[in-house]
Amino acid sequence: MKLAKQKHVPMRTCVSCGKKTAKRELLRIAATPSDGIIVDSSGRANGRGAYVCRNGSCGPEGLHRGRVEHVLRVKLSDNNWNELSDSITQSVEISN
Ligand SMILES: [Zn+2]
Repeated sequence: MKLAKQKHVPMRTCVSCGKKTAKRELLRIAATPSDGIIVDSSGRANGRGAYVCRNGSCGPEGLHRGRVEHVLRVKLSDNNWNELSDSITQSVEISN
């Protein structure tokens, strides 16, 4: 593996495709103590975070509920999941 000297960019792993990507290219899903599972557009919400690429093939289409539950260590109801998928769809559309 070749290591190039460059400015440090925070990297996170996409829960959908598993690729490591610069954090700013990813959408953060947070399991917050106060608001439940949200799309964290600020990237600063409290709680565990899961990251997904902002492109359409990773979120929400490529996103598996079980993976998100595993990473966030939560159980999502059908309602939670539908709301989350909608939020992701909206966020992805906005950022494109
Ligand atoms: Zn991805």
